[in-house]
Amino acid sequence: QAKTAGRSTLRFFDPDMQAVVTARAGLEADLRAALAQDEFLLHYQPQVNHAGRAVGVEALVRWEHPERGMVSPADFVPLAEETGLILPLGRWVLNTACKLLAQWRGDPDLAHLTMAVNVSSRQFRHADFVDDVARVLAVTGAPAGRLKLELTESLLVEDMETTIATMEALRAHGVGFALDDFGTGYSSLAYLKRMPLDQLKIDQSFVQDLLTDPNDAAIVDTIIGLSRSLGLEVIAEGVESVEQRDLLARAGCRFYQGYLFSRPLPTDALEQFLRDRI
Ligand code: C2E
Ligand code: MG
Ligand code: MG
Ligand code: MG
Repeated sequence: QAKTAGRSTLRFFDPDMQAVVTARAGLEADLRAALAQDEFLLHYQPQVNHAGRAVGVEALVRWEHPERGMVSPADFVPLAEETGLILPLGRWVLNTACKLLAQWRGDPDLAHLTMAVNVSSRQFRHADFVDDVARVLAVTGAPAGRLKLELTESLLVEDMETTIATMEALRAHGVGFALDDFGTGYSSLAYLKRMPLDQLKIDQSFVQDLLTDPNDAAIVDTIIGLSRSLGLEVIAEGVESVEQRDLLARAGCRFYQGYLFSRPLPTDALEQFLRDRI
């Protein structure tokens, strides 16, 4: 028994592992303080149609850390999920995005735009989620029909019945849904058919090598065909070149998001971009 304990102790004190544990604990402590200290902000990435006109934006959270600088959501969103901090953070994201959406309401240049907000599994599964969304819509005055929640495939298949019930409840408030990173997870046709979705987002990994990898081109064709037969809108993520956009257009994709059009932008730069693109 002592031997087993000794072995696990040894593993725990592996210096590399210890460094990882310490760095993570530091990040977690900072993450807890960050909300109170107002260190989060949202950038917004435009989504455009075939004519290059903006049809909507996706809100993407940013963490401006006083010492570390900009921390990527890829580094802190998973940690926020594990620690439960995604609940207050997710509420803050939703509220901030909806406040902007509400501001656009009376604006002839901006009132038509949709706002996509990423929702993590833990947030979506929380018992108060539907009420939270409804309250944020009511308090901010954002038009529910312009709010689009982005879910992932793994979230959809986790607990199908509950997922569908939650989506239906939100849909009753007018909220729409996009399936993010589509093609990277597992969701069968039969599942997809039952989900009240509006849009599939082709994952950027397929767009990246579209011109050189025939497998990716075939996957993209399949996703577009699938979206058509399910009556869903399809948008490609991570479009960086005109050649990618043209190939996607030939394959029947009408909506695009990516650096070719714009990087995610802070609010002022976004509104400038949007007004120039009407
Ligand atoms: P996502 O929702 O799939 O967002 C798209 C990511 O691709 C964003 O990374 C965006 O900046 C990046 N991107 C957009 N166009 C291009 C392009 O042309 N080329 C390349 N290489 N990348 C492009 P970002 O902002 O770092 O976000 C990463 C992920 O973090 C998001 O992936 C999403 O899963 C998560 N995330 C971001 N904001 C939130 C949030 O508010 N809540 C939750 N739960 N997750 C979020
Ligand atoms: Mg997304
Ligand atoms: Mg995505
Ligand atoms: Mg992603």
